[in-house]
Amino acid sequence: MRRSKQNYRCSFCGKDKSEALILIAGVEGHICEVCVEQAVDIIEEELYGNKKQQAPPPPSSEFNLPDNLTPMAIKKHLDLYVIGQDEAKKTLSVAVYNHYKRLRQANQDDVEIEKSNVLFVGETGTGKTLLAKTIAKLLNVPFAIVDATVFTEAGYVGEDVESILSRLLQVCDFNVAAAERGIVYIDEIDKIARKSDNPSITRDVSGEGVQQGMLKMLEGTDVNVPPQGGRKHPEQKLVKVNTQNILFICGGAFDGIEKHIARRMNTHVIGYKADEVNSLIDRDNLIRYVNHMDLKRFGLIPELVGRLPVATYLEPLDLDTLRRILTEPRNALLKQYTKLFALEGIRLSFSPEAIYFIAQKALDLRLGARGLRSICEIVMKDAMFELPSQKDIREFKVTEAYVIEKFERSKFGLLKAA
Ligand code: ADP
Repeated sequence: MRRSKQNYRCSFCGKDKSEALILIAGVEGHICEVCVEQAVDIIEEELYGNKKQQAPPPPSSEFNLPDNLTPMAIKKHLDLYVIGQDEAKKTLSVAVYNHYKRLRQANQDDVEIEKSNVLFVGETGTGKTLLAKTIAKLLNVPFAIVDATVFTEAGYVGEDVESILSRLLQVCDFNVAAAERGIVYIDEIDKIARKSDNPSITRDVSGEGVQQGMLKMLEGTDVNVPPQGGRKHPEQKLVKVNTQNILFICGGAFDGIEKHIARRMNTHVIGYKADEVNSLIDRDNLIRYVNHMDLKRFGLIPELVGRLPVATYLEPLDLDTLRRILTEPRNALLKQYTKLFALEGIRLSFSPEAIYFIAQKALDLRLGARGLRSICEIVMKDAMFELPSQKDIREFKVTEAYVIEKFERSKFGLLKAA
C-alpha cells in the first residue's frame, strides 16, 4: 500500500510525522530525531564502551556547570528520558540551575542565595525518581536514593537520619568533597507525615521526630555520618560531611492530599468572580494546584516545608503518555527488547495496536509506568525463551493478537476473568 505524504512515519519507532520534530527520509524509510540520537548512543557505546558514564564525579570542591547548560538546555535533556511532566521538568531545571549557580557564587556580598531543595508530589510510578536520577547523571555528580520510611527518631529501631548521607558517601567511594556536591533523592517523604493529620499512614516511623531530624541536614550543616549507615554507635568512626551544597530532592505520592487542596480552593474562590474561577479549575487533576499550605495540612511540619521551597507536581500518566513511555525515551522499554533481540540476530517490531494494548492494560491496572515493565515481561517471556533456540527465525513481529493471547493467559488476565 502506498502511503500518502501525511502518513509518513519513523520506520524505527513508528512515530507519526506530526509527532516528530524532524523526520529524515531514506531510500525506503524514515527516521525521527529521537531515533537518530538513540543510534548515536548505540554507536558510541559500541565503539567506546561505557567510558562516558564511568567518568568519576568532580573530585575537587570546584564544581563548574557547563557554560551552555541553561535551564532550557537542562529541560531539553530531561525530555530525552522523561515523557510529559513538563511542569516538574521546568521547575527542576530552574532549581538545579540556580543551585549550581549558587555554588559558583563568590561569598563577597550580603545577598546570599538560599538553597533550592525540591519536593515532588505525584502518584507512584510517574517519574519522580527518574527525574532526580536523570539530572544527577547530566551533572555527573554523585547521586543516592534513600527511603524516608527506614528512618526513625533517635532511640527507636531503624536507621539514623544521618545515614541518608552514608549512601551518598558510598556511591562516590567516600570522596567527601564529591559527596558534598551531590544530589540525594528522599523517597516516600509523605510517609513520615504527622499521623494525626494523615489518615493514610501505614507504618509507625515516628514521623514528626524524623522530620525534625532532617531539618538541619536539608538546610546545610556539618553532619557526622556513620560511613556504613544504620545506627550510630560509640566505637564507630564518623565522617564529617557538610550539606550546604548538597541538593535534596524529596518525593512522595501524598495520597489524599487532593482533599486538602479542594478544601483550600473552595474557601478561596468564594465571592467575587467565584463562578469564573471555578469554571477554570481542573477538578480531575487537583494535584496541579498543590502548595505549601496543603503539605502542612497533610502532616509535614512547617519547618520542613520551609526547607523545601520548590514544590511541584507530577501528573498521573494517561494512555498516550504510557504509550510514549514505551517507545520514546532513550532507553525506552521497547527499545531495550529490540536491542536484546538484535543481539540474537532477530529483528523485533511491535505493531502500534500492540503498543496501545500494553499501555491500556497498564492504565487499567493502575500501576503507572511500572506496570508497563510487568506487562511487557509477561508478553515477551515466551518469545525470549523460545527464539534463541530457533536459529532460522530472523524477524519477530509482536501484533495485538499476540499480546492479547499472552496477556489473557497471564495472572493479570486470569485475575480479570475471576
Ligand atoms: P516514582 O514516581 O514512583 O519515583 P519512577 O521514576 O521510579 O517512579 O518510575 C518508575 C518506572 O517508570 C521507571 O522505570 C521509569 O523509567 C518509568 N517512568 C515513570 N514515569 C515516566 C515518565 N514520565 N517518562 C518515562 N519513563 C517513566
